[in-house]
Amino acid sequence: MNYETKLSKSQISGVFKRLNAGWVHDGNPKNPHAVLTSGLCSNAYFNVSQIASNSIAMQVLAYNLSRKIVPRIGGEDIVVVGSAYAGIIPSFMVALCLGARHMYTKKGPNGEMVWTGRFSIPKGAYVLQVEDLITTFKTTEAVRRVIIAGNKNPVKFYPFVATIVHRPAKLPTEYYFDEEKIEIISLLEKEVWAVPQEECPLCKKGSKRLKPKEHWEELTKKS
Ligand SMILES: [Zn+2]
Repeated sequence: MNYETKLSKSQISGVFKRLNAGWVHDGNPKNPHAVLTSGLCSNAYFNVSQIASNSIAMQVLAYNLSRKIVPRIGGEDIVVVGSAYAGIIPSFMVALCLGARHMYTKKGPNGEMVWTGRFSIPKGAYVLQVEDLITTFKTTEAVRRVIIAGNKNPVKFYPFVATIVHRPAKLPTEYYFDEEKIEIISLLEKEVWAVPQEECPLCKKGSKRLKPKEHWEELTKKS
């Protein structure tokens, strides 16, 4: 497959299925469900690292995401910024498709986003945030905040963020950074519930909850 292949929505879902990168609980309580980093239970999980480990598939998806970005940008000096760790490869590949520079945040000792030491966004450049996955706006917002606080020069951001997967608890959803509305440009968008364990219908029925990345095989094995 040429990486400059335009994929339809169903072909994009197909890539996730083929590469075992997406999982939705089938409703059978004998099968486990997911516990997210936030501690909430969930009935679906998208593991973009599974895509990123297949360099060609990642390149094709990054190209398709970049096609959605191109109409929104001009001849600005663009720096694509991704977040550690899973966001680094997708953001790099989108930068490659756009011919733009690429930088990324690192993680601090408590998993927090850090923007100092490694990169500096030059004066006048526009920052394009690209993520692997957006569930809530938390990480995206944290990346913006640490860059604004830590970059030597003042920074300009586009009023949109691009992501391979957007999986909020409710669709449609609106995100704001301070007063500014931030649009999400995504390749795959799906409403996925996430609830505290006390309210989880799957826990109530006795389904085991597992950390998806550590237990990916167990979670996605066909029963
Ligand atoms: Zn649960």
